[in-house]
Amino acid sequence: MIQTTDYDCVIIGTGPAGLGTAFHLLKARPGMKILLLDKEPASTGGLRNDCKMNFTYPIGFPLEYWKKEEADEYFKEVKEYLKPEIMPKMNIRTYMNRAEKLGVQLIKIEQAHLGTDKGRILIKKLMEEIKEKGAEVSLKEKALRVNAGGKILETDKREILYHTLIIAPGRSGFRFLQSVMDSLTIQYMDNMIDIGIRIETPLKNYPIVEDYYDPKFIFPENNVRTFCTNSKRAYVVKEKYTTKYGKPYYSVNGHAFSENKKENGLVNFAMLKTVRLTKPLASGQDFAEILGLQAVLLGGGNPIIQRVGDFRLGKRSSSESFTDNDLYNFEPSLKSCSPGDISLSMPARILRAIWRSMKMLDTIIPGILHPSTIMYYPEIKLYANKPSFIDDNFRVKDTIYMIGDGAGTSRGITAAWASGIRAAKGILGSG
Ligand SMILES: Cc1cc2nc3c(=O)[nH]c(=O)nc-3n(C[C@H](O)[C@H](O)[C@H](O)COP(=O)(O)OP(=O)(O)OC[C@H]3O[C@@H](n4cnc5c(N)ncnc54)[C@H](O)[C@@H]3O)c2cc1C
Repeated sequence: MIQTTDYDCVIIGTGPAGLGTAFHLLKARPGMKILLLDKEPASTGGLRNDCKMNFTYPIGFPLEYWKKEEADEYFKEVKEYLKPEIMPKMNIRTYMNRAEKLGVQLIKIEQAHLGTDKGRILIKKLMEEIKEKGAEVSLKEKALRVNAGGKILETDKREILYHTLIIAPGRSGFRFLQSVMDSLTIQYMDNMIDIGIRIETPLKNYPIVEDYYDPKFIFPENNVRTFCTNSKRAYVVKEKYTTKYGKPYYSVNGHAFSENKKENGLVNFAMLKTVRLTKPLASGQDFAEILGLQAVLLGGGNPIIQRVGDFRLGKRSSSESFTDNDLYNFEPSLKSCSPGDISLSMPARILRAIWRSMKMLDTIIPGILHPSTIMYYPEIKLYANKPSFIDDNFRVKDTIYMIGDGAGTSRGITAAWASGIRAAKGILGSG
């Protein structure tokens, strides 16, 4: 392999966490030699997928690492770069009053929404800006291994000398992160997982989205929350993942376009239950992967879809549930799914918590339990095992930092960016 130049700081991942570090470092020390790497042709996380940006604590901020005052301080810097246009919210008091009566929380959030199309434009702009400030960017280059003793990063193209290494590979890079933790004997703990369904329904059944784009409901009793709401030009998508044994499974997700697409009048959002395994300790990731495989088996190689009307009657959905023009009168936006029975695949405790939360939500905003509403399963959010940090700046060893959604320091774009700033402050010794 060819040994190339050395850098003050090499950053793996061009998501918000990596960018947060790069922008902060170059603002504080303009001449710093920085390299940003990404295995893909462009950043692949939330910046590129719908790009909803939340500026209210604790959305996206794991409580064990962040306090409100800190997050509020970081938001100021995050806004400098992301320049959000905060969306107005209307009639929220009515929904909040109804929610409170049921012990449900509706969190009021400062929120901006770019959509998948404008998110891509933002990524391009940020990449140009960071290059103008002097950073080198290498796309389609995959980080493979770290030699901490020699301070060498091995990629699929070369060996790179670093002084400081930032590892910010996002959720999709959790296996890479694990391999680095194993090879460098960095201690870690098993992380929680989120398991749930994605709901799709006509906008008239969930009109709150006209008042509040991505309403965040929390159902504390059931440990369930609504997540990632998309509307108007909204689509459900399936993402392919591979288990550690190399077997493929799918998780659904959702996104929306802000323009350039005809409105389809649909809303989709996830209802997720957080699961943290304790005693006897088992790997949350292994558990989530088994659920993913089970769903793929029962769905004949696809995610499962079921109409609420069928589910309530305790029967599976069949292809007729999707050709009936009377009650079941809209088509799923994701076609490659199999009509079936979610309750055959999802553990009872998770299903009960989600169904109970859906009933509460339908009491707050009557409509989502309309028989035509479609439930997609599974939606799985996996996070890497959480490293043991040796300081508050997410340092894991010598001059190596692990940040962002992959390392569990964030669960959203703005918190990932804040994690990047905090690691940069660690490098600079400034807080
Ligand atoms: C489909 C989808 C939609 C989402 N929508 C939203 C949203 O609307 N709002 C929100 O707040 N959050 C959203 N999220 C969550 C959001 O993506 C994350 O919170 C955020 O992007 C995390 O930032 P990050 O920098 O940690 O990781 P990422 O943004 O995932 O970036 C990590 C980057 O590292 C690269 N990488 C991984 N492994 C390697 C390697 N070995 N070598 C080189 N490069 C590597 C990846 O290609 C990727 O570009 C969404 C996530 C997904 C998957």
